[in-house]
Amino acid sequence: MPAGDSAGIGGWLKHSFIDFPATVSTVLFFRGCNLRCPYCHNPLLVNGTAGPIAFDEVVSYLERRRGIIDGAVLSGGEPTLHREMLPFVADRIRSLGLKIKLDTNGLLPGMIDNLSPDYLALDLKTLPSRYGELGWRGGADCEAAILRSLSIVRSMGRNAEVRITMAAPFIREIEIEAFMTMLQGVRVVYMQPFRVSGELLDPKFADRGYMAPETIRRFRDRLAVAVERCEVRGME
Ligand code: SF4
Repeated sequence: MPAGDSAGIGGWLKHSFIDFPATVSTVLFFRGCNLRCPYCHNPLLVNGTAGPIAFDEVVSYLERRRGIIDGAVLSGGEPTLHREMLPFVADRIRSLGLKIKLDTNGLLPGMIDNLSPDYLALDLKTLPSRYGELGWRGGADCEAAILRSLSIVRSMGRNAEVRITMAAPFIREIEIEAFMTMLQGVRVVYMQPFRVSGELLDPKFADRGYMAPETIRRFRDRLAVAVERCEVRGME
């Protein structure tokens, strides 16, 4: 285990049928994040107080379920912040014959390249110029990082997706119009309605995030012109 990283995993869903396409998976939630989205449903992970989960326990569970669980989702928080532990965890899991899916906000594209996940889910939050409103403190590199991550998504074809949380202040007409250019060549985009289920990172955001279903459908139809497939998940 890389030094200093033993407490990197803050949560663990032992098995899931829905988090990794066509794969029964285990889901590991890494602590910490380089954003502070007000609608985030994982405040304990983002603040680094969830867990810790012992990775040895995860490995022994997966060894006992060889042939049943065939993939692992590395999620968060933001897993790519764990520069040493993430590749270590991925290598160990791959050594058990499992595939890797990475969930990321795409702000550290070099980590995506290094990991070479079998499946990639990239969360796009708003216009790159607005990431400061989400707590990004990395400066102007944000846009370059997101565009680089989107090019990885394109290169992965059917093994990658873009996800957009439809939180009203961050997704408006102007964002959708910009996404039509940014997302050209992306195979699939999933829009996820903002919901209040449990604690939010910013509890006051509960009253500000709602977007009407007809608006989400209109945005979906607009963006569907630019990408191969655009769907809404978890509405209706
Ligand atoms: S929603 Fe994702 S990117 Fe935003 S603060 Fe939460 S874990 Fe970080």
